[in-house]
Amino acid sequence: QPRIVSGIQPTGGVPHLGNYLGAIKSWVQLQDPAIQAQRMRGSTSDGQRSEPSGSASHSVSAVSSQPSNPSNSAVDVLYMIVDLHALTVAPEKAVLRRNITDMTIALLACGINPAKSVLFQQSKVSGHSELMWLLGCITSNSWLSRMTQWKAKKQQLLASKSLDKHDWGLYSYPILMAADVLLYRGTHVPVGDDQQQHLELASTLANTFNHVHKSAFFPAPVPMYNDAKRIMNLRNPVNKMSKSDVSDASRINLTDSDDDIRSKLRRALTDTNENSITFDPENRPGVANLLSIAAAIRGETPQSMAEHYTKSNLNMRGLKDAVMELVIAEVKPIREKIAELQADEKAVHRILEEGSHRANEMSRGTLQEVRKLVGLDL
Ligand code: ATP
Ligand code: MG
Repeated sequence: QPRIVSGIQPTGGVPHLGNYLGAIKSWVQLQDPAIQAQRMRGSTSDGQRSEPSGSASHSVSAVSSQPSNPSNSAVDVLYMIVDLHALTVAPEKAVLRRNITDMTIALLACGINPAKSVLFQQSKVSGHSELMWLLGCITSNSWLSRMTQWKAKKQQLLASKSLDKHDWGLYSYPILMAADVLLYRGTHVPVGDDQQQHLELASTLANTFNHVHKSAFFPAPVPMYNDAKRIMNLRNPVNKMSKSDVSDASRINLTDSDDDIRSKLRRALTDTNENSITFDPENRPGVANLLSIAAAIRGETPQSMAEHYTKSNLNMRGLKDAVMELVIAEVKPIREKIAELQADEKAVHRILEEGSHRANEMSRGTLQEVRKLVGLDL
């Protein structure tokens, strides 16, 4: 039984363009049964889709405007605000609370529809922590210490002095993430490619659990990527765009004004080859990133965007102006919807509460079975 599961940290309270183009945009599309069928057929165990990139399947227009009846949809879809993960960087509690609400608002504004998917708060389903422990007891420290995100984040946090000696949460983060997916016996996980290593661990843990307990209980989850699987940092395009980067100029937030977007893209680091536009991520990461952003919005390939802009005789300034207009057109309706939803926080909280209730119900069967397999049932 296929099941789509994914999550986002509430950190910062608002997704950036990387979160949106890399993950949330396909979360929205994957609520549609027709797209589910199409994309799942194409996703293989290494997470690559077999369809050619740039096909109509991931343009927004492919999403049916007819609301589907959730009871007719064969595939369950669950999206969560992973607030327990956010605790790894010790947020202030008032800020955390605010961010959970704001992130929920942002997801709804992007098009997550509680009639089609279960939108919920991770910490409200205690099975995540319980399963994490059970999986932790079949995890090797050597698997965790290989995780590149752990190494990178630790460096970043040490440098900004926001992490002291309490670093076990960050270290064990991938076990909790595996539990997030396996608690619902998730099979497909739409994420950006920075999560590849973590998902490999989730799949290792599923297989290890099955092996140790001589069962075929957990399916090994596979990642689902779309074409914009890694949007880069605008100030330093060899790193990914990230919520936790200290520089706000490094990312475009979905709440940025048109002027913010213009000024951030105008200042985006490119290179000195001002008059040619080529897609060459290795040697021209800044230019490649702008082309990837444009491509993801247009549903085309970055190579074809480069050809298109070259034919139009654009220089670097022209390229930035063109990308700016695309980004503004994409972000503006979301920003306006966010402002609208902010007026009724109660309704937003109700949606999250109902979703958390449903997720709790859905997790119950797994927990019961897992306790039995482990030998905790009497
Ligand atoms: P943090 O820096 O705090 O880890 P983040 O920006 O990585 O924040 P997450 O909440 O960790 O955001 O990730 C949410 C989703 O967005 C994940 O599926 C992740 O793979 C995806 N994602 C994050 N950054 C990018 C990016 N730069 N390009 C494409 N996808 C991304
Ligand atoms: Mg992240």
